[in-house]
Amino acid sequence: MRMSEMHMKTLREVPNEAEIASHILLLRSGMMKKLVSGVYGFMPLGWRTIRKIEDIIRQEMDATGAQEIHCSALQPAELWEESGRWSKYGPELMRLKDRNGRDFCLGPTHEEIFTDIIRNDITSYRQLPQNLYQIQTKYRDEARPRFGLMRSREFIMKDNYSFDRDEAGLDVSYKKMYDAYSKIFTRCGLTFRPVEADTGAIGGSNSHEFTALSEVGESEIAYCDNCDMAATTERAEFRDAPEVNEEMLPMEEVNTPGTKTIEEVASFLNLPKDRTIKALMFVKYNDEMTEQTGYVAAFIRGDRELNMIKLVNALGIPEHAIEFADEEKMGPATGIVGGFTGPVGLHDCTIVVDSELVGQKNMCAGANKKDYHLKNVNYGRDYKGDIVKDIKLLREGDPCPVCGQPTKVARGIEVGQVFKLGTKYSEPMGAYYKDENQQDRLIVMGCYGIGVTRTMAAVVEQHHDENGIIWPMSVAPYHVIVTLVSAADEQQKAVAEDIYGRLQAAGVEVLLDDRDERPGVKFKDADLLGIPVRITVGRGVANGVVEYKLRREADKTEKTPDEAVNDAIALVNAERRG
Ligand code: ATP
Ligand code: MG
Repeated sequence: MRMSEMHMKTLREVPNEAEIASHILLLRSGMMKKLVSGVYGFMPLGWRTIRKIEDIIRQEMDATGAQEIHCSALQPAELWEESGRWSKYGPELMRLKDRNGRDFCLGPTHEEIFTDIIRNDITSYRQLPQNLYQIQTKYRDEARPRFGLMRSREFIMKDNYSFDRDEAGLDVSYKKMYDAYSKIFTRCGLTFRPVEADTGAIGGSNSHEFTALSEVGESEIAYCDNCDMAATTERAEFRDAPEVNEEMLPMEEVNTPGTKTIEEVASFLNLPKDRTIKALMFVKYNDEMTEQTGYVAAFIRGDRELNMIKLVNALGIPEHAIEFADEEKMGPATGIVGGFTGPVGLHDCTIVVDSELVGQKNMCAGANKKDYHLKNVNYGRDYKGDIVKDIKLLREGDPCPVCGQPTKVARGIEVGQVFKLGTKYSEPMGAYYKDENQQDRLIVMGCYGIGVTRTMAAVVEQHHDENGIIWPMSVAPYHVIVTLVSAADEQQKAVAEDIYGRLQAAGVEVLLDDRDERPGVKFKDADLLGIPVRITVGRGVANGVVEYKLRREADKTEKTPDEAVNDAIALVNAERRG
């Protein structure tokens, strides 16, 4: 491609709203453009990278025997009502009505649609297993669209769904997808970790997230260097502190004026934080969020953090159906007193107690009375939980839930997720097949997603420097850029054209920067665009040399045009597949 003819506009300035490298660089390189918050379009170079990521996905999906189809983004509400998700999915679902008032949504995911296809098409065990995938635009009305492609409201996803006769079949399908995902992300040039994950709104029994390691990622993962434990911190189990062997002392009310936080009360009473109980108050709603269904008081040890995912799972409600309570309102209804809330004597709310508190003795908790706390509070004797479960967040240094060694915590970008769904959709939607004995059996499903556009952003996060993107060869929009320093110089022009033609003939994807621009602009753009190999044709041609530089390396070398062409071809062929 001749850059003089290409649609491209790079920006020198950092766009205001962009905070992280991928967002800044994808906008500055002109690869994508923002339309409105969380909605982006892709220009020629950006679109080429997206198509390369898609091609890698297609190759690896096809290699597993999965078949590509394409479903509509527009989905009728009826199918979502059958699965029960029309109400459960919450405000993230982009809902709309047609001219006759019929409800639709723009698909955030496609379990219902694929289950519908399969229940209509599959009758016999002979037709199973099946695995269908698509690469498609998804819609989610995210509460906080941000970081460009990381969390957008319209994005491209590869999603696929496996259909098996039984759990053993699902295990095989799941393993194939897990392995394919590892190949895909490796080929895209990502450093990643597969970790155990919560199953969230999609539901099901077993799941892994593929997390590209990055400080700007929104996922937090816990892992252990001593064993192979690796899980999102949302999901990671917690090893409760050992039971305390102490006599229960008589409960005692103490005046603690103005001590509203755990830090304040612990220092006022000269207690370690792990001898206190922290209270967190919530109000919960029905799935549609149209009415309140009650208050929740959650209690954990004072030195711990609450894990919201574990809390909503313990309550059996979707993540969107809970928020922090207005303590002024909750007080009269339940007996809590803001800043002085404890588990003793509460009423008319669901009390959720972290499992660890059961074995702790003589704890300090709020007295539900302004400026007072209670000392020597003991589970069983003084209070009970309606629900007792692990609801705490695993932090760096906490004992690994598997082996007990100190846990490590890292941040990452969730680029893909695989789920074992089991019969979560086939049951409500009636997706059956007939087995060898003509008995009706439920189809056992798995579902698997990759965020294509988020993967593009993750690649940029892991591969950039202060001057721009450094694309891995496998997903670079072009492999080589030939920078013609002076388009007016006939000799330079002839050499550049020759290199351009020979690389193209060898199947290398080449940009020829033949624009009428200053050399500085051309070099800056080449760095910003991140094309892996740059061959600069400048004054050196008078002495028979061009400059050869890899974007990922600082050094430049002089080579003859022949050497430069041959080296570029060899490098591209070695790396293009990823
Ligand atoms: P998250 O927890 O980040 O909101 P999710 O778990 O809801 O994501 P899935 O339903 O598992 O997402 O979707 C499959 C993949 O689609 C994710 O692994 C991610 O790569 C991508 N994805 C999900 N939401 C977005 C979004 N808002 N913008 C871009 N990509 C997304
Ligand atoms: Mg996910």
